Amino acid sequence: MSAATFHYPPKMGKIILLGLEEVIGKGGVDAVLRLGALDEFLQGSPPEAGERTISFETVSQLQQNLEQLYGPRGGRGLAVRAGRACFKYGLKEYGFMLGLTEMAFRLLPLSTKLHTGARAFAELFNKHTDQRVLVEETESTVYWHIERCPLCWERTSDEPVCHLAAGLLQEALYWLSSGKVFSVEETACHARGDQRCTITIQKMPLT
Ligand SMILES: [Zn+2]
Repeated sequence: MSAATFHYPPKMGKIILLGLEEVIGKGGVDAVLRLGALDEFLQGSPPEAGERTISFETVSQLQQNLEQLYGPRGGRGLAVRAGRACFKYGLKEYGFMLGLTEMAFRLLPLSTKLHTGARAFAELFNKHTDQRVLVEETESTVYWHIERCPLCWERTSDEPVCHLAAGLLQEALYWLSSGKVFSVEETACHARGDQRCTITIQKMPLT
């Protein structure tokens, strides 16, 4: 891999595969990986702690393989569900570090939790991966801007393709609010020619 390539740490690669396995089973994951270009997921030797070894090309390829195997529509739905499933593995791995699992945080009002949680979550990506996230907020809306996005890396598409991110945020909000459902939509995507990927979240829950 060239030095110019951006990466996720192996921990995050593992979280994605665990989430995916929950949705399509171990056989499904094997089939997706066997479709090719995903060698980094299959490498046996454990990397050094903190090392970033999963390239953005690979993360993007995973979603493409999913669409190839299950069809564009099916692959999209599975990616949302996998993103949702990823959240609890991510929480297990990073929640304590982010302070999100502390009782003091859990007792905050929902609006404060949304504000603080979004920033802590963005910081996780900005600090531990080469993904760049910028959170913008208005009275009614949170914009999760992915400035450098692994999910659609080097892809072109007529519509947004970063479904895993949308699923992950959906589940994060569900957890944060103790079971409320929010409108979460990818409204801009780099693959579609937009400057960056934007997941738009309405602060007012649907339920
Ligand atoms: Zn994207």
